[in-house]
Amino acid sequence: MWTNKTLVVASGNQGKLTEFSNLFADFAIELIPQAKLGVEVPEETCFSFIENALLKARHASAITQLPTIADDSGLVIPALDGAPGLYSARYAGVNASDQDNVSLLLERMKHLSGDNRQGYYICALALIRHASDPDPMVAIGRWKGTILDAPRGNRGFGYDPIFLPNNLDQTAAEIDPQIKNQHSHRGLAVIELRSLLR
Ligand code: IMP
Repeated sequence: MWTNKTLVVASGNQGKLTEFSNLFADFAIELIPQAKLGVEVPEETCFSFIENALLKARHASAITQLPTIADDSGLVIPALDGAPGLYSARYAGVNASDQDNVSLLLERMKHLSGDNRQGYYICALALIRHASDPDPMVAIGRWKGTILDAPRGNRGFGYDPIFLPNNLDQTAAEIDPQIKNQHSHRGLAVIELRSLLR
């Protein structure tokens, strides 16, 4: 059982801070966003989601001297050699909007059909007790789906309007957010991390 009283969250994203609060709701610990402790977001220089999550966690923990949780997520299309992958947020450029990223992905997939339109969201979570923790708690969730050829729905964010989960008949931007949490890569990673914390 996790017994620390304070945990730094290595993210500035309000949605993620809320998700992490829910994750730890019954653990009686205080979550502190890294920005509150003067920690800036480091450059994500690694080659995988889990390495980037660990990099972010170690960076914040080294500065704050506190246990830290971090995540990294994205969309992987095997037929595009894993793109947009680590670059999901900035696929169409550093200041690209969700819509720019979706348009570029549709353009790059327009020649693909059938199984080649399969992809998955991935979320990697890393929790470290201190900056040089040799045994981090790690959880990974994946959510498989088909990439449609036109957007549907206006909920969610990122690539949700073109992501049709394999076992649902609505896109991730059409379904109720609570249903999304039950099925999603992030929801699954959170369930796994919670079981590690117990
Ligand atoms: P990050 O984990 O904040 O770096 O997010 C990476 C990017 O992956 C996001 O900006 C989105 O483009 C994409 N992404 C990750 N999770 C989701 C999701 O649940 N829905 C839609 N897009 C997502």
